[in-house]
Amino acid sequence: MTMKKAFLFSLVLLVTLTGCRTTEQGAVNGAYFGSALGSVIGSILGGSNGHNIGSVVGVVAGGATGAAIGHRNERSASRRGSTTLKYQPQEHTTVGNLAPQNNYAATLPTENHALVIAHRGEWKSQGSAQNSRASLQRAMALDIWGTEIDVWITQDNHVMVNHDASYSGITIENATYQECKRLQLANGEKMPELSDLLKLMKRDKGNTRLVLEVKSHKDVQRSAACAVAAVQAVKKAKLQERTVYISFSLEACVAIHKADPQAEVAYLNGDRSPMSLQKLGLTGIDYNIKALRQHPEWVEEAHNLGMNVNVWTVDNEQEWMEMDRLGVDFITTNEPARCELFLGGQK
Ligand code: MG
Repeated sequence: MTMKKAFLFSLVLLVTLTGCRTTEQGAVNGAYFGSALGSVIGSILGGSNGHNIGSVVGVVAGGATGAAIGHRNERSASRRGSTTLKYQPQEHTTVGNLAPQNNYAATLPTENHALVIAHRGEWKSQGSAQNSRASLQRAMALDIWGTEIDVWITQDNHVMVNHDASYSGITIENATYQECKRLQLANGEKMPELSDLLKLMKRDKGNTRLVLEVKSHKDVQRSAACAVAAVQAVKKAKLQERTVYISFSLEACVAIHKADPQAEVAYLNGDRSPMSLQKLGLTGIDYNIKALRQHPEWVEEAHNLGMNVNVWTVDNEQEWMEMDRLGVDFITTNEPARCELFLGGQK
């Protein structure tokens, strides 16, 4: 009888845990059925003492196993585009000639949407910060196409991750690694080095790409030095396949191409045609929305040359729709989760 019970509880435990959709649900169900199973097995092996010990062991082991299974299920649901995520339309404002509508997504084509890149990572949620470890990890958890960061090189040739040239009174390109690594971000983290973020990417099992912006330093030699150091760090981490490069500095773009001729490199400054950039070995344009409105023909020109088109920084529905219809390949946004839901998934 007890053996039958043990078998029955094992079966119930297995079926229940497999169906758990969240970490919490898995932990609770795991602890409950684990306790029951443990007490039965404990009784078989050691009478009433065994019953009690088995119950305790079952709570701990079942709870941990359930939490792990629930977490895995939660994460894979998120990767598939979880049904628990619901798109909430934001307040509409009229932009250009586009009148406000209630449901833009319904008017979009059903496939070949632009892919989403999180601008400076997913930094708007609580506990995150621009260009932080948290922002990278949260962007990867969204399972979007890419997450962008900005990098500077220090005097002693460390590649630091930050948007502005200076932070808390320290100008990164004039400072040392020791000075920069002490700087505290808005979420309490210390300023990351590029290699810190590459390590986090290596641990992630998804395929979110790093969109690595080499900032324009005071002179072009330092921009180029930063570009080469960034490429070396990416190569060392063996993350070439998951990294694309962007820069306002044409010299940095060319330096990246020379350091890794296979790398995808896009120019940010909005003032050059795709053809002129391809002659330098670049593979894409990554332009402000105003530049693409001025030169919408550059989208087709880029595509005809086998180059891709990214647009920045687009944070509202009208402009997501406008750029998606224009045919851009990527949209860089401060609202990655909303944009992903709005565009309705992957290409
Ligand atoms: Mg940037």
